[in-house]
Amino acid sequence: MIVNAKKMNPDTFHPTSLEGHAEPIEGRATNLFEVAAAQLDKAIDAMNLDPSVATAISQPKNELIIHFPVRLSSGKVELFKGYRVQHNNILGPYKGGIRFHEGVYLDECKALAAWMTWKTALQDIPYGGAKGGVKFNPRDYSKEDQERITRRFTHALGTNIGPEWDIPAPDMGTNSDHMDWMMDTYSNIVADKQGVKRVVTGKSVPVGGSRGRTEATGRGVVTCIEKWAELKKLDLAGMTLAVQGFGNVGSHTATIISRRGVILLAAGDHTGYYFNPEGFNPYRLRDHVKETGSLKGYPGGQEISREEFFATQCDILVPAALELQISAEEAEKLNCKVVVDAANGPTDLEGERVIAERGIDIIPDVLANSGGVVVSYYEWLQNKRSETWEKDEVRAKLEAKMRKAYDRVIEKCEELKVDMRTACYILALENIQTVYQRRGIWP
Ligand code: NAD
Repeated sequence: MIVNAKKMNPDTFHPTSLEGHAEPIEGRATNLFEVAAAQLDKAIDAMNLDPSVATAISQPKNELIIHFPVRLSSGKVELFKGYRVQHNNILGPYKGGIRFHEGVYLDECKALAAWMTWKTALQDIPYGGAKGGVKFNPRDYSKEDQERITRRFTHALGTNIGPEWDIPAPDMGTNSDHMDWMMDTYSNIVADKQGVKRVVTGKSVPVGGSRGRTEATGRGVVTCIEKWAELKKLDLAGMTLAVQGFGNVGSHTATIISRRGVILLAAGDHTGYYFNPEGFNPYRLRDHVKETGSLKGYPGGQEISREEFFATQCDILVPAALELQISAEEAEKLNCKVVVDAANGPTDLEGERVIAERGIDIIPDVLANSGGVVVSYYEWLQNKRSETWEKDEVRAKLEAKMRKAYDRVIEKCEELKVDMRTACYILALENIQTVYQRRGIWP
């Protein structure tokens, strides 16, 4: 299906906003914000949202695009394009990741920022939603140059971020190194140098990060899969798994769930897709990625095509890489019981329709990958109170929160006879609507 984004979003569609989008697949929806807008419309219809609230949340509050020059270690100066979209802050400071990827574009950041708003509202944590990024491929730059780019971007953002205003975190292409540099740079441009650690979450533990943050998103994904299996009365031991993307989220999902006896049959990343009928050792696979930067060259298993990967016969499919990976074409070939959206927006509208028609379950992104922002909130709280929590405490709190959210979503599905994604949206929107109605839209 070719979606006419111009028709669906007359106020927002900028032809140049798709410029540089990575690897658009021929004939596919390529504008992520139109997917997010259609999901929102569906929920608004299902719950009769107050029209004034619907209007207020239909667009992000702020969209910032920055071009900033960086002198690289070679001495050459390059110009980079950075984004920060602040979607909504009625429940608390804007919150969301920073992505380093050559395909970052404005409407992608808008969609990802909106999803952060629904995620934090669904999880009932006092944050709004934001997302940002820099359009470049970090694999093409040394660690030193990535530091230069991160620091210059942070400097250019200036006080557009802040510990009670807008709090970045890691996303695709960024990790605790980048967050440490962001925090350090920000602390050097404001007066309160010691009190602003919490301007960024996902930092390394010595610099003020939370224990358990690195694996939090994957752990949350696994808790959702456990809930899904419990409610279906299925035994996870012996189930099989395929994971697209073996970075932070994909690798932690695969290793953590392997402790429940789930077998990793197939994995893929930007270099290709790999299959092992005996099952991969996810820990060794993760070490290989850490050492070499990708899955390529891992001894054991055979290379398969992208089509074969999505058609892998398995119980659980976890897309944990880019958005818009599963359209009708892939959805028709899926051979699994459940698709767990570890990535943001991995399925387009047609893909989702086909998956539902085929009776395959979907655990939607705003729930499935919300463990990351939940533990980011715990990090922010620890920084605010000058505390450090033990890993077991963080883990227990996260698991309890994920389980509670999952139960609330299922209850909403049953009450309104809606799918899980729509139920997530409705719970988030109810929360936001209550606060908008009490605070008012003023002046
Ligand atoms: P990451 O950079 O650590 O890993 C990304 C993975 O995707 C890598 O294995 C990479 O090789 C793979 N990939 C990139 N392009 C690909 C392509 N064209 N085909 C197949 N694989 C490809 O990123 P991450 O932090 O694990 O994020 C992955 C997804 O999870 C993103 O959608 C992100 O928004 C989402 N997410 C991340 C977090 C977090 O805490 N890091 C939280 C919530 C959601």
